[in-house]
Amino acid sequence: MDKVHIDSTYGVVIHRNFTPLYVDEKYAQMFGFQSTEEVMNLSSLFEIIEPKFHNSALDAYNAVMKGKEQPKVRSYVNQNKHGQLFSVLTVDHVINWEGEPALQITVIDMSQIDRANKQIFEQEQRYKDLIWNSLQGIVVHRNFKPLMVNPSFAKIIKAKSVDDVMSLDSFLCVVPEYNRENAKARYQQLISGEVKATNSIVENITFDGEQRYFQLFESVISWDGELAVQSSIIDATDKYHLEQKIQYQASYDDLTGLLNRRAIIEKLHKEREPASCPSEVCLLIDIDHFKYINDHFGHSAGDEVIKRFSQQCKEAVGDSGLIARWGGEEFIIFLPKLNIEEANIIAQTILNNCEQEYYEFSGKKHSVTASIGISKCSPEHCNVEHLIQSADNNMYQAKQQGRNRIVLPD
Ligand code: GH3
Ligand code: MG
Ligand code: MG
Repeated sequence: MDKVHIDSTYGVVIHRNFTPLYVDEKYAQMFGFQSTEEVMNLSSLFEIIEPKFHNSALDAYNAVMKGKEQPKVRSYVNQNKHGQLFSVLTVDHVINWEGEPALQITVIDMSQIDRANKQIFEQEQRYKDLIWNSLQGIVVHRNFKPLMVNPSFAKIIKAKSVDDVMSLDSFLCVVPEYNRENAKARYQQLISGEVKATNSIVENITFDGEQRYFQLFESVISWDGELAVQSSIIDATDKYHLEQKIQYQASYDDLTGLLNRRAIIEKLHKEREPASCPSEVCLLIDIDHFKYINDHFGHSAGDEVIKRFSQQCKEAVGDSGLIARWGGEEFIIFLPKLNIEEANIIAQTILNNCEQEYYEFSGKKHSVTASIGISKCSPEHCNVEHLIQSADNNMYQAKQQGRNRIVLPD
């Protein structure tokens, strides 16, 4: 009888009815045996197969041996000599052994792959825990249909539970109507790869009907083999209101509520083409003898005059131009669409109303007057700075000529 040579880095065993006929060293090692003889001395290979697999091993053996089933790759859990379980892949086929059929099995130890799989599973679990316990609200969605929602998302959006959000066909209902098209367009940009990620402040309607602001981060991920968008949110309502307040305070004057000097210049430069004329007409207005009011009736009396005078100017301008507090008791007006005659009418209205407005200080009635310089943009000097300078010169002229008057450009 020729010696069967099996050249394999895997373990090989040949058996008939689970009685070992041949075993190689690798196989013996895999099962924790010192030598091949130890395996050969086993009465049955069942001793090293986990009991719950005995039936399926026997069925497979019979099926293959009777030719009812093609030899194939199977997976089993085996038990080494020390009782430790390890999983294997087996490839079996029928051979002739000493004149009779026997089953040759090549066994591949899967322990390492098992360990790797376990690690992947643990990593996945860690990742899931991370998302589940994150204080950031996280939702994964495809076309706004939620696929995964973490408890923080439900809490931030004021839903009763995660299931409440998951049961929505589309959570676009939390997006205010004016922003829905925007949200859909952004989703398409993300899915198409045109945009990698977004970071923005958005307004949402929470489940209790309140409007709140959220810092929203969006990115594309693969979810169950298909692209989806992962959105993370943090409630940023307080931060948003604070920013709005700071922004307001930086641009508007506290006392009058008008734009301040810096803000109006910024607005003029921002809203108009740098080369084109910023405004047709500019008015610079200064209250006459204002110091007198401060000195005789106190600073708060002066404040009241500034406040009421600014309202009169604002009303006279209406929506035909921009007005700002230029300094202490000075105001500036830009009238982009009006000509000098129309601007003069507005200036006249301011002076008339001013004359008729009475203030009561120290039990006596007082009124104030103002001096107004008007300038017009010229093709030679078509810039904001020149326009303001000319208006200032004309306002100075009005003071020189006796105050309570308007000086028009030459
Ligand atoms: P003129 O007719 O030449 O303009 O005389 P005037 O007294 O108005 O002179 P001027 O423009 O120099 O005086 C402005 C004063 O306004 C000086 C400043 O103390 C005062 N002032 C500036 N800002 C405020 C403010 O917010 N409140 C009050 N009450 N006074 C202010
Ligand atoms: Mg003054
Ligand atoms: Mg002044």
